[in-house]
Amino acid sequence: MERYARQMRFAGIGEQGQARLAQASVAILGLGATGSAALQTLVRAGVGRIRIVDRDWVEEHNLPRQQLYTEADAREQRPKAVAAAQHAQQINSAANIAALVADINAETIAEAVGAADVLVDGSDNLELRYLINEWCVQQQRPWVYTGVVSGYGMTATLRPGGPCLRCLFPQTPEPGSLPTCETAGVVGSMVGVMANLAATEVLKLLVGSGQPNPGLLIVDGWRWAFDQLPLPPKQPDCPVCGRGEFVLLNNPDSGATQLCGRNAIQVRPAARGRIELEQLAARLAAAGCRTRLTEHLLRFAAEAYQITVFPDGRAIISGTEDPLLARSIYARWIGL
Ligand SMILES: [Zn+2]
Repeated sequence: MERYARQMRFAGIGEQGQARLAQASVAILGLGATGSAALQTLVRAGVGRIRIVDRDWVEEHNLPRQQLYTEADAREQRPKAVAAAQHAQQINSAANIAALVADINAETIAEAVGAADVLVDGSDNLELRYLINEWCVQQQRPWVYTGVVSGYGMTATLRPGGPCLRCLFPQTPEPGSLPTCETAGVVGSMVGVMANLAATEVLKLLVGSGQPNPGLLIVDGWRWAFDQLPLPPKQPDCPVCGRGEFVLLNNPDSGATQLCGRNAIQVRPAARGRIELEQLAARLAAAGCRTRLTEHLLRFAAEAYQITVFPDGRAIISGTEDPLLARSIYARWIGL
């Protein structure tokens, strides 16, 4: 506990709060810029159990803002969950870190979150946030929403019984209508700001002291503007927290999802179990494909595409934005 002396000296945490952190469990969904920065702060603060989930691997263009990762991670194409777990463990060997390399969707979210006391939104799209929202309302868990794009970020703390993300953002925006980190760019320093505000919210929720963020905080670091909008009251006709309709949780979609701005499609076949990557690699090599097998993924080139396959059956097909084509490439080379 000596390690946490200064944190315990802070009256808002104290010895009791530090002991609570050691017993607490947090799930971080998505380990891009926000998720990886929040992980680093929480593991340093002494949160005892942390579940981390991400479907992607580290790439060089992540390094300007995804604070935990290194050039070696990118070179070795390590899954973010695996790399993040290792770095976090080096920071704090006492932490119990459970890493899952998986797509977060209606079928996987329960396993991904487990019994976590608080969820941290590390996702990069509103669709996934709506899913997290449904799960948190259904399971009565608090979560911290955070989004960063361009030079600004937003965060809100959503708690059971209060308004939910659907109350805050009732309308699903038209595809392509919101700026993304691909279209508008992003300043890495602002990710750190927002991730650490979110991590502070998590610490307060776990310790049970302090004043939680009461609204939607919007921080524009580039224009130096700070806005705090009140959360709307809980809407009685909100489909999620008012009427209890969990449309996203109850209708797991499978199939092909476009990956924002990456000229790539993720294919996630519904009935597919785990894939033996070694056997698949051998089959592909026999067919004349160039393959690269790591401990966590298999990558190969076929036709004009780069295909990355994960043991859970998912594949990311790079070189197309056409979901139907991506599915047929999957069927051709991996098999449906
Ligand atoms: Zn609601």
